Amino acid sequence: MPPTFDMEETLDLETAVDSDVLDLPIGAELVDEVIPSETRDDDSSVEAKPSKAAQERQELLNFFTPDKLKLKNISWTVAIWMLAMHVGAVAAFFFVTWQAVAVALVLHWLTCSIGICLTFHRSLSHRSLKLKNPAKFIGTAIGTIAGEGTPLMWSATHRVHHGQSDHYGDPHSPLEGPWWSHLWWMMIHTTERKKQLLYQYYAPDLARDPMMWFFERTFGLWLIGTGVVLYLVGGLPMLLWGLCFRMVIAYHSTWFVNSATHLWGYRNYETTDQSRNLWWVALLAYGEGWHNNHHAHPRLARAGHRWWELDPTWWAISFLRLIGQATDVDDRIPAENAAPTG
Ligand SMILES: [Zn+2]
Ligand SMILES: [Zn+2]
Repeated sequence: MPPTFDMEETLDLETAVDSDVLDLPIGAELVDEVIPSETRDDDSSVEAKPSKAAQERQELLNFFTPDKLKLKNISWTVAIWMLAMHVGAVAAFFFVTWQAVAVALVLHWLTCSIGICLTFHRSLSHRSLKLKNPAKFIGTAIGTIAGEGTPLMWSATHRVHHGQSDHYGDPHSPLEGPWWSHLWWMMIHTTERKKQLLYQYYAPDLARDPMMWFFERTFGLWLIGTGVVLYLVGGLPMLLWGLCFRMVIAYHSTWFVNSATHLWGYRNYETTDQSRNLWWVALLAYGEGWHNNHHAHPRLARAGHRWWELDPTWWAISFLRLIGQATDVDDRIPAENAAPTG
């Protein structure tokens, strides 16, 4: 049953909307639509009513608040999976082989930089570049085995973050608590209603792509399949390093983008959120730690805007463009990037 709609909760809603960011009705302001006076029978008896779309967007945003994290709303699939991966990551230190460690490092780069940062984030979520096949399919498959959710779910949720960043409805603002933004936010069960509204309002373009639905329907098989292949190739050490350890390090690398880079670091740009540039997150997350740059200019394919803001994911994008697999790359760097502020 869908949760009830509570207009009271719209009161402190603020939006950081840049319609140019995604060319979508992302996080559009939830203003009441006033009924024209000529259509009213009696002005005094007709209240301004929000449109159905505004109500449904509000209903969606209400799903993302920390007060929804209750025992009855917990996604046990996510909770048990995360716990199992962390236990496996610790156990990996008792089963060390150099081959397993090497595979973990390579898979970390592949899933985190190529799968999540390049494909899910910069290409699917922000359309900073277009990927041709087979790079698009391979990149989406690699992003899927990062185990951070389906490409549709990841991208739509991320667009909500940009639409509402550090305001009401942001799925993971550290202003609600650093641990909430780091991992607790994802423990809330995703209802069918939430998923439907999320895709309808935040990813209608991606929801028209059959490839996205292929990965949506086969998501679990990719994770299980990765584990099976790793075990067959190198036994328990390969499974623990290539799946559990690799995944846990990649999880925290990307989660720090949600938590740490909205808390610590410097700002090149004034934005309506708390985003920061943080060097060690940029290192861990292949350039995504230049998060203030990204929030100020989300459409750009480059996250590093100064010469020393290294962005390994941008290097991969440049390579894909060179071989003709990436097109329409938005490679601009803003001229007006001001001196860093504290
Ligand atoms: Zn952010
Ligand atoms: Zn983004």
